[in-house]
Amino acid sequence: MPVSLDEVRRQLAIANRILGNEGVIDAFGHASIRHPGNPNRYFLARSRSPLWVEPDDILEFDLDSQPVRPLTVQPYGERVIHGEIYKARPDVNSVVHHHSGAVLPFCMTGVPLVPLFHLGATMGETVPFWDQRDDFGDTNLLVIKPEEGASLARALGRNWTVLMRRHGATVAGTSLQEAVFRSINGCINAECQLRAMAIGTIGPLNAAEARDAGAFNLQPRPMARAWEYWTLRLGDRAKFPARAKAAVKAPERKSKAAPRKRVKAAAKTRRR
Ligand code: MN
Repeated sequence: MPVSLDEVRRQLAIANRILGNEGVIDAFGHASIRHPGNPNRYFLARSRSPLWVEPDDILEFDLDSQPVRPLTVQPYGERVIHGEIYKARPDVNSVVHHHSGAVLPFCMTGVPLVPLFHLGATMGETVPFWDQRDDFGDTNLLVIKPEEGASLARALGRNWTVLMRRHGATVAGTSLQEAVFRSINGCINAECQLRAMAIGTIGPLNAAEARDAGAFNLQPRPMARAWEYWTLRLGDRAKFPARAKAAVKAPERKSKAAPRKRVKAAAKTRRR
């Protein structure tokens, strides 16, 4: 049964919050999903901290990462990461970009990240590196230009996770759940690898084990079980305010009560 776009927005908002809550993304980083009815479009939140993303924050872009309707809010700067990977990989339906502290030591040293346990294998048998410096020389390290996104997509190749030197990681999936599962377990693998290398010699999965374990854990049942667990850990953050949209769309009131109401709302926001 086709999924409604409202449900896509809700799922993507939940995914943002799960990734935030599990420490994959923090103030920065983002997740997107390809439009289920139009492969030339994708959805991505407006620029805000992922833990706060609501369904109404989700914007629609074409594969050149241009908004499909005029924006009244600020989009993320690095959205070409998403658009260019969707262009290069028709099999990819979701992309996560993050700067998790778990992967940064690998991005900083160039030490290869390898699958060390069955769930870690979901990040892919091989995790290539991309160095923005190779193609673009000195930059501010943000991936903003379409050619930078395309270069990153080439480095990802047919793999599922790519490490970005001195920056972070980008993770792809055939579905939103898969990209989230892969991102979280890839970070757990990275954390374990760092600790394991400190106490001894690592013994990674071989290619056949990595392939089989990866495929097994990316089946619907384990992914649904993990999604349930991560959603439970969100607690109240798994719920969205019933009428965020109405509040945003309400015309500015010029009655005497309005300013006081706004001050009250602002104070409430500050407390949270
Ligand atoms: Mn980034």
